[in-house]
Amino acid sequence: MKLYKADAIVLRSIECGNGDKLLVLFSREHGKIKVMAHGVAKPSSRKRGFVQLFTYTRFLLHRGRELDSVSQCEGIEMFSYIRDNLDQISYASYLAELVEALIPEGEQNEPLFLLLLETLRLMEEGEAEILTRSFEIKAAGLMGYRPVLEECAQCGGALAGRLLFSAKTGGLLCQLCSDADPRALVCSRGVAETLKVLSGWTPDRLNQLKISAAGRVQIKILLYDYLKYHLEKDLKSASFLNRFAAKP
Ligand SMILES: [Zn+2]
Repeated sequence: MKLYKADAIVLRSIECGNGDKLLVLFSREHGKIKVMAHGVAKPSSRKRGFVQLFTYTRFLLHRGRELDSVSQCEGIEMFSYIRDNLDQISYASYLAELVEALIPEGEQNEPLFLLLLETLRLMEEGEAEILTRSFEIKAAGLMGYRPVLEECAQCGGALAGRLLFSAKTGGLLCQLCSDADPRALVCSRGVAETLKVLSGWTPDRLNQLKISAAGRVQIKILLYDYLKYHLEKDLKSASFLNRFAAKP
């Protein structure tokens, strides 16, 4: 079979000269794949709009000896509001980069795909930050390292006293276990409760969630630290996002 179908979100697009682009796609059927899209950067290309970042597109792909290529494509959801707003672009870029870092090539992960698609759909309606935080914690869960939030990640006991959040131990630490990870971060009760909500609520309910400015900062730091620990590397657009949020 030389042709195959893939419904995919465009995570990254790299100009290759001659109007060609190398696309990194997250497809529902085949997970993360890299494909060549010939001529799509040319102004005359009819495919041009459907290979833009974050677009959800139905691809017909041609199996190549080294690299598969786009034979046909048709946009399913364009997410043009996201691409037109700097705030949304920075959050969506971060999600795309995070997904690309999380999943190995060619490994199907439909739950993560559906989570990304639903998150983009809701971002298209305006919100971005809380959706991003919820995506981070849920994506970690779908990759097999959901943080422990209901009990102490070290001793399994009740979460008594002053709480810490430890990337290394895998979640919240009770006061007795505060020595388990010297790099653990302080986590208020309120933030601990919010983390549970971000992890448990479906994305469409998150617009009901209110988080204080201080809570948002703390959650961003905790989750970023957690993902960085698991990914063992820094994410480019995350640092961009931090700088972005630091502006008055
Ligand atoms: Zn403990």
